[in-house]
Amino acid sequence: MSHDVFKADSKLPDRLLVALREQGYTTIGPTARDGAIVLDEIHASADLPVGLREDQEAGHYRLQARRDEAVFGHTVGPQSWKRYLFPPNHRLWAAKRSGGSFEIKPQHEADHRLAFIGVRPCELAALEIQDRVFFGEEHVDPHYAALRTRAFIVTVNCAEAAPTCFCGSMGTGPRAEDGYDLALTEILGRGRHEFLVEVGSERGATLLEALELKPAGKDALEAARKKAAELAGSMTRRVETDGLAEALMANLEHPHWAKTAERCLACANCTMVCPTCFCSTVEDVADLSGDHDERWRRWDSCFNSQHSYVHGGNMRPTIRSRYRQWLTHKFAGWIDQFGTSGCVGCGRCITWCPAAIDLTEELAALRGAVTT
Ligand code: SF4
Ligand code: SF4
Repeated sequence: MSHDVFKADSKLPDRLLVALREQGYTTIGPTARDGAIVLDEIHASADLPVGLREDQEAGHYRLQARRDEAVFGHTVGPQSWKRYLFPPNHRLWAAKRSGGSFEIKPQHEADHRLAFIGVRPCELAALEIQDRVFFGEEHVDPHYAALRTRAFIVTVNCAEAAPTCFCGSMGTGPRAEDGYDLALTEILGRGRHEFLVEVGSERGATLLEALELKPAGKDALEAARKKAAELAGSMTRRVETDGLAEALMANLEHPHWAKTAERCLACANCTMVCPTCFCSTVEDVADLSGDHDERWRRWDSCFNSQHSYVHGGNMRPTIRSRYRQWLTHKFAGWIDQFGTSGCVGCGRCITWCPAAIDLTEELAALRGAVTT
């Protein structure tokens, strides 16, 4: 389909929310709560984090007021969209005692439609990575597939990067070229507050028809692309991906793993905030009468010692082995399994690590150790 581009004034977020809700979507977006930008159902632009930015560094996160009224002036908070498609707690089925046997009631998949407003380009890349995990050809997660197929995605290209961002070097941002229904670029300055709107799907085009927006000139799109390239080049954190998987696998016994393990608390924060991590465990819950039982899937983490417990013992009994598993899976094993890196450079694991462990530094240190 053609890549149509329109321009809109500052009322666009409200108009989009109304149009999506009229079409039956539950609209989810960023909102400020408890000192952080989190995701929740939003009804109007007043629910968005207008005039706020985040101050992020390794092990540090604060909300701050901006000097302007930017609607999407933040980057990424601790939560990611995976919580809606791959929920932290999800009932798989329930069973009821029936005579001398039992009856299984499968979980009915959600039939509602979600619209994700404000998906950053790195987060869009993360959704596409999780698609390969939950929505691959061989194994399809029915809950994920049902919601993901129907989800309406409004991406917002980044105008600023947090110091923790490194999407520029991962090739996942700060601008999205496809994979969305609509992509917005917020333009602010000299009394100007408007949006560039790019159409990425028939669904997006249909929604926009009702808004009757004016087409934008080619120059506006070129200017947005140029700004995004400048922003990518200005990011101070980066990961050198060429030959990284080989370098990591060649250094499995390097002493640096033990050094990092001395700092790592195995708290699992990095995996909880990561938009691509997908480890889970299964738990059976029975009532006291024994008449009713439920099976739940819950988020788990490769940092939890029980996660690597198999018949006969724990495969990864030390923090060193668990940190090494996480990093090598993200940047090496994931490529073998899914044909892509498991990292999109969102920087969340850096910000939310209580020990301020920065994977860009860890990778550089391990890479510097390669002697081959
Ligand atoms: S790297 Fe940081 S966030 Fe991850 S488990 Fe270790 S201490 Fe927790
Ligand atoms: S590993 Fe860290 S930087 Fe990479 S996607 Fe996960 S949270 Fe983001």
